[in-house]
Amino acid sequence: MIIIMKPKATEEEISSLCTSLETQGMQIQRNAGVDCVVLGVIGDVAHLDPQDFLIRPGVERIMPVSEPFKKANRKFHPKDSVIDCAGVQVGGRRLAIFAGPCSVETHEQITDTALKVRAAGADVLRGGAYKPRTSPYAFQGLKLEGLKLLEEARAISGMPICTEIMSPKLVEEFYRRVDIIQVGARNMQNFDLLTELGQTRKPILLKRGLNATVNEWLMSAEYIMAAGNPNVILCERGIRTFETYTRNTLDLSAVQAVKQLSHLPVIVDPSHATGLNWMVERMSLAAVAAGADGLIVEVHNNPARALCDGAQSLTPAQFAQMMGKLHAMAPIVERTL
Ligand code: PEP
Ligand code: MN
Repeated sequence: MIIIMKPKATEEEISSLCTSLETQGMQIQRNAGVDCVVLGVIGDVAHLDPQDFLIRPGVERIMPVSEPFKKANRKFHPKDSVIDCAGVQVGGRRLAIFAGPCSVETHEQITDTALKVRAAGADVLRGGAYKPRTSPYAFQGLKLEGLKLLEEARAISGMPICTEIMSPKLVEEFYRRVDIIQVGARNMQNFDLLTELGQTRKPILLKRGLNATVNEWLMSAEYIMAAGNPNVILCERGIRTFETYTRNTLDLSAVQAVKQLSHLPVIVDPSHATGLNWMVERMSLAAVAAGADGLIVEVHNNPARALCDGAQSLTPAQFAQMMGKLHAMAPIVERTL
């Protein structure tokens, strides 16, 4: 961190600031410029809030020089992280494909969809049991019954299961029943939930918030990791922009940014990003071309009758076709499936 003092800062103001930083374990490099004094602060500044220094007398400006995320930062962990999700590796050369319905509805619906996406090459079964719906009158998910149906579908299909958690109160239940715990876009900054999940070692699929910057998203990953859980997978699922033609705007440049800044794996959700099933195949191919480590795609065995997000859901046949195109493209971007 660099602190630029005001041209009229007094010697007393400068040395009192230096002393207070030194007592917090920092080393100070003092540079006398033509107009003002510039202080270089060396040490672990992660726990310092730049705002606290801005109100000190004599301070003109603060310039952070390092990112505030440490454990998620590629600088301190140059190699890509590979997260083991009950036998499925996410983050390696092999693309990880998560597929399944928005919501678990019935035993028949989830097992039939699971077997079909499995046959087409999916690795992980997704399905919501606790649904974050905009309207309190909309279908809220089957909750505990939905988790049990997912467990049955796992037993029948052999695929690990991924489902969304909304409350810190449910961490134990999810820990026992689920292989990958999804934190949805709306809870990306539910810090109590992130900290609670950080106390487990379960793989966490952390979706990007609707309005979150790349930095905020990585800071949320940092919450989980700082609490002790290194197993974080990031998921770009589109952000809010002025455009309303699509449900959200898929930010593929963020995939590259995050892969550059962090060693964590990143997957892309083309379903929530677009809201339109006919865009999913192309956006999936584009995501893989942009460097995504995998995809999470909504697939329903009968989208027209889906209780949630039918318009963005692929049929199993459309999903199988998409997988065929991914197979053809993967070698070009040095990936396998
Ligand atoms: C979902 O995956 O079903 C979901 C609700 O996603 P998001 O949190 O990205 O909106
Ligand atoms: Mn959905």
